[in-house]
Amino acid sequence: MHRNRYKILLSEAEIRSRVEELARAINTDYSGEELLVVGILKGAFIFMADLVRELTIPIAVDFMDMSSYGASTRSSGEVRILKDLETPVEGKNIIVVEDIVDTGLTLSYIAELLRTRNPKSLRICALLDKPSRRKVDITPDYRGFTIPDYFVVGYGLDYNEEHRNYRDICILQPAQHED
Ligand code: 5GP
Repeated sequence: MHRNRYKILLSEAEIRSRVEELARAINTDYSGEELLVVGILKGAFIFMADLVRELTIPIAVDFMDMSSYGASTRSSGEVRILKDLETPVEGKNIIVVEDIVDTGLTLSYIAELLRTRNPKSLRICALLDKPSRRKVDITPDYRGFTIPDYFVVGYGLDYNEEHRNYRDICILQPAQHED
């Protein structure tokens, strides 16, 4: 049986302090405003939970679930909505919270869709960014960490639905590709 191995890329402590910094920036930028925080399921659920608990401005939360077809460790670019927002976004300040921007196709699809609903403002907050894999021109307004082209798991991110509960963000190293 093959057993995957994991190497810590970002520790729990590093993630916590960066999430606090992101929240401070959001608190400052939206001072005096209200905010709808939109989490993209499932990968963003832990990041979102930590981020919103550091926010001091009035917020509401909602979630969208998107799916991209394709191989297990790579997104293919085809996106469909599995769960839409329950909250109307017209006239509201929206921040979309995503776990990782890879090709950018998922987020650009979501951003285009939400813009058609006439929010007051729309920004993107991504914990991780892999700019080397980008296929569309999209840059998160708030970004936790820029990382190389590794497949990572933990802190909400999965491999075949496993490892979302890891406290650190780890690089997946399949056993058949020993280094
Ligand atoms: P994009 O549309 O930007 O190519 O893909 C974004 C989605 O692909 C992320 O929300 C995530 O679900 C998945 N993804 C991309 N890179 C990784 C990765 O390194 N690890 C995991 N677990 N998912 C990833």
